[in-house]
Amino acid sequence: MLENKIYKISILGPQACGKGTQAEFLSDKLKIPAISVGQILREELKKGSTVSEKIKEEMNAGGLVSNAIINLIVKKRLTQSDAAKGFIFDGFPRIRIQAKSLATLTALTHVIVIEISDAEALSRLSGRRTCSKCGKVYHLKFSPPKLADICDDDNEKLIIRTDDTPEIIHERLKIYHAETEEVIEFYEQQGIVIHVNGEQSIDAVKEEMFRKLKLNS
Ligand code: AMP
Repeated sequence: MLENKIYKISILGPQACGKGTQAEFLSDKLKIPAISVGQILREELKKGSTVSEKIKEEMNAGGLVSNAIINLIVKKRLTQSDAAKGFIFDGFPRIRIQAKSLATLTALTHVIVIEISDAEALSRLSGRRTCSKCGKVYHLKFSPPKLADICDDDNEKLIIRTDDTPEIIHERLKIYHAETEEVIEFYEQQGIVIHVNGEQSIDAVKEEMFRKLKLNS
């Protein structure tokens, strides 16, 4: 039964494969939090904390934020009470060392890999817009806001993320192929990886993912 089962999921895949959207569907279905490390980092930047300058430099260059910071963020987030009954990571772990340090905290039950080509990632990212306040993500073509450049939820202005420019996107895709595919291999060896075709409609991706997780949609 769904209620008795603990799901500790990580959703991986190239930039703009739809990780965040699908993580929200799973979060609603399973009543466990979706945790986006990228979003936590962006919130940290807004706070202007002592580490924020370092985080900003690393993120704006399209590189990964240092492990010490990431591990601290993840550890802190997992101790919050809502994560006690499971969680869904969106875009973590991205490198092998993060997977190993996560294993010292908890064991994942499923790793979902949403697959799209680099060409598809580039075309999707060029239309992406993000709310400057709440972080909600829109796409000019696929999921536009009701009013141009304005967030449906809080009327704040939508922005293009500084790491969504073509050069930076190339850098992020390079890191994905070099590093994150190694992480997927690490979990393949544990037999917990589920591959989903990300080049379908949002609903079709959701259905394939739910079916492979043996959940009713
Ligand atoms: P995302 O919102 O998942 O696309 O992440 C945006 C940026 O945040 C990435 O390009 C990295 O600079 C940083 N970031 C997010 N997750 C991680 C992670 N697990 N490890 C290191 N850096 C990360």
